Amino acid sequence: MHTSISQATPHTGVSYLKAIGMSALRDTLTSRSHSPDFAYARGDYLRSRVMVIGVIFLTLVPFWSLIDWAVLPPETLWPALLGRLGMLGALIAAVFLARHSRLRLDWARLSCGLLLATPAVFYALVLTTLPGGGTSLIGYSFIPYMLVAMLAIFPFTLLESAVLGAALIGLEAYALHTEGVLISASGLQAIWLLAALLVIAMTANYFQLGLMLRLYREATHDPLTGLLNRGAVIRAVESHTARERVPQMALLMMDLDHFKRINDHYGHASGDDVLRDFAGILRRSLRPSDLCARYGGEEFVAILLDADPSTAIEIAENIRRNAAAARPHSAAGEPLNYTVSIGVAAFQPGERFEQVAVRADDGLYEAKKSSRNCVVGV
Ligand code: GH3
Ligand code: MG
Ligand code: MG
Repeated sequence: MHTSISQATPHTGVSYLKAIGMSALRDTLTSRSHSPDFAYARGDYLRSRVMVIGVIFLTLVPFWSLIDWAVLPPETLWPALLGRLGMLGALIAAVFLARHSRLRLDWARLSCGLLLATPAVFYALVLTTLPGGGTSLIGYSFIPYMLVAMLAIFPFTLLESAVLGAALIGLEAYALHTEGVLISASGLQAIWLLAALLVIAMTANYFQLGLMLRLYREATHDPLTGLLNRGAVIRAVESHTARERVPQMALLMMDLDHFKRINDHYGHASGDDVLRDFAGILRRSLRPSDLCARYGGEEFVAILLDADPSTAIEIAENIRRNAAAARPHSAAGEPLNYTVSIGVAAFQPGERFEQVAVRADDGLYEAKKSSRNCVVGV
């Protein structure tokens, strides 16, 4: 959650392509650089796709049974129909799991795996139970191709797609082996075709995930300071409190003092510099697990995870001191000094963001009324 938009640095030509290419590759290769909040957003995309495709598969199962009836020898028809029933059950389980996996990333992933594994397992069963190996795979041989192509539908990381794709290519190699044509021109061509499909699917994953991350960052971060925006911090707190019990959480509501005077005296651009300077102070003064956001105008909010009231006051005091000591420079080179008033409130069990924010706002109001440049805990 603590990701920030890197400040624009001047790049030209090849160096620019390298810069965006490298960061996009890091973002799409694995999920290690994803913030927890984005990980949950991706989990939501995964689960919605599982539900849509799961329902499509469920609708198709009766039609697939018609294919079984048309192509399978009579003695294998009943086992195949039993297999179809199993498939129906597994697909229903995948859709059910996806439906109930909100904020549960592992469940969303599991439902995705179940959805893809179901046709693959059915295919493997057909291969191993058909008399005479896979000589009558008409009606089924498309399954590995369909599943590799389907990898492009999900916002998978490149590593996830590579692992799933390799397993599906392995399955096809096994199918070709049972037909006795793995080491032949047609066998190698089939593997080659699947590998090419996998590369196309992974390219789609790269662009899909990259675009998703870019849009996500733009929608959740404030462009001036690079901090989270108001909506994103509220959502992050709500999802935090929904999925785990954070023992002691505190909210800091901060407002720069007499900020209008800075704008009036030094100009709007210098006001912007002060806002950026204060955002830097917040990043440096908070712990990596804390969240901070630009709440609006010259107001900021910080969420301290796992901080008792006295620690929260201490951190707020540190922010206040750092702001009072900061000396960013105006466009004309004059040192700008500014101060901040802070209201601090602790989350009570079961309390929502808005309720705590109102109390922290009361503290902020008190701070403004007394002397400004101070911290008031409520
Ligand atoms: P107080 O100590 O009571 O908070 O006084 P204040 O002057 O800070 O508060 P007031 O609400 O009167 O003024 C806030 C100002 O912040 C007004 C607005 O023009 C300015 N502001 C809001 N957003 C931005 C911004 O993005 N950049 C700049 N430069 N100024 C902004
Ligand atoms: Mg204000
Ligand atoms: Mg103000």
